[in-house]
Amino acid sequence: MQTADVVVVGLGAAGSATLYHLARRGVRVIGVDRFVPPHPYGSTHGGSRIIRRAYFEGRMYAPLLSRAYELWTRLEGEAQAQLITRCGCLNIAHRDSAMIADAEASARAVGVAVTRMTPEDVRDAFPAYHLRSDEVALFEPDAGTIHPERAVAAHLAQAQAHGAAVLTNDSALSWKSNAAGIAITTESRVLHAARMVVTAGAFIRDVLGRACPPVEIERVINAWYSTTAPIFRPQHFPTFIWEFKGVKSYGVPDLGRGMKAGLHYHGTLVDDLADLDRRIGDSETDALGKHLRQLFPRYLGPCAVATTCLYTNTPDKHYLIDYLGGTDTRVVVGSACSGHGFKASAAIGEALADLAMDQSPRTPIGAFRWRWP
Ligand SMILES: Cc1cc2nc3c(=O)[nH]c(=O)nc-3n(C[C@H](O)[C@H](O)[C@H](O)COP(=O)(O)OP(=O)(O)OC[C@H]3O[C@@H](n4cnc5c(N)ncnc54)[C@H](O)[C@@H]3O)c2cc1C
Repeated sequence: MQTADVVVVGLGAAGSATLYHLARRGVRVIGVDRFVPPHPYGSTHGGSRIIRRAYFEGRMYAPLLSRAYELWTRLEGEAQAQLITRCGCLNIAHRDSAMIADAEASARAVGVAVTRMTPEDVRDAFPAYHLRSDEVALFEPDAGTIHPERAVAAHLAQAQAHGAAVLTNDSALSWKSNAAGIAITTESRVLHAARMVVTAGAFIRDVLGRACPPVEIERVINAWYSTTAPIFRPQHFPTFIWEFKGVKSYGVPDLGRGMKAGLHYHGTLVDDLADLDRRIGDSETDALGKHLRQLFPRYLGPCAVATTCLYTNTPDKHYLIDYLGGTDTRVVVGSACSGHGFKASAAIGEALADLAMDQSPRTPIGAFRWRWP
């Protein structure tokens, strides 16, 4: 048996950040993970995630995203590690698309620098890109790509340096709460704490059972396409989000394995993770490659490698950061991030730590509270 003030279940993006913020405040905290994070079995692998603040998903993300930038920069200093490559981000869509207007409005509302670019502007500045004549781009220079595995490792190492205990290869199997606190049974022991933070990502249903919020788990793929010209390297190639015929795709520069890309919300729903098929057929990567070559007609070679990954989606595709059911202050819930949470996870972890300590979150999270019956 082990006791702590708080137990964090799941040490991926959100959980490692929560552990770090609690330990940094001197809270006695234990983190437990069923694997050894960072690992490729959840939602936080593949070497890169896009980080940006011109957020077409909504202006309510602005405080969390700005705070995340501050926290990532602080973590880079503490861990002496480069986490972010500031290669910029292009939002690309039809000139009348709401995506461009919403991203621009979000950026302007909080003073994030963005520039509208014509297809010719984009071709001159970033020659890999070939926009159609009816498309425009919104360029955010301070955006870029962030390294998820390095960030999780840095949060965990810093948390441990501040006294956090980390249990790996150990699943939380069940838990019970009463007035005295929470008892969490893992494969190896029973943990007692006043509070539990659940950041189990796509495995959230296994941990919360019938109390779980209404989430869908989506299997998606990322594929790396070999490139034959340096114009896909970060100096010449911003990350991108491209909306075309109602489909959103995204990608990051060639960081050594090829240009990585994926489709946003075009995966398959998984009812039971035990049935998850991690094999990837050529038809999946061929279809994605064909789609991408409409934006990158030159120098994009075949798919070199591909991986599956998991989204944990709420019905409205926004985040969830709250107490269980909105009211049970013994259990704090920090999944689901609906396939776009990594960039904010440093600040999500801070907000979860605030909730676990009964403090009002330093960064407003009103839009991400529990919102289901
Ligand atoms: C292909 C892909 C591309 C993406 N691109 C972007 C992007 O460009 N920008 C962006 O911001 N976001 C992006 N995202 C989303 C982002 O990566 C996720 O929102 C984020 O990583 C989710 O983190 P998490 O902490 O919720 O889950 P995870 O990092 O998966 O962590 C959950 C952890 O819980 C552990 N766990 C589960 N069950 C138990 C248990 N019973 N006991 C103990 N431990 C348990 C797991 O082992 C895991 O380590 C992308 C996601 C995918 C899949």
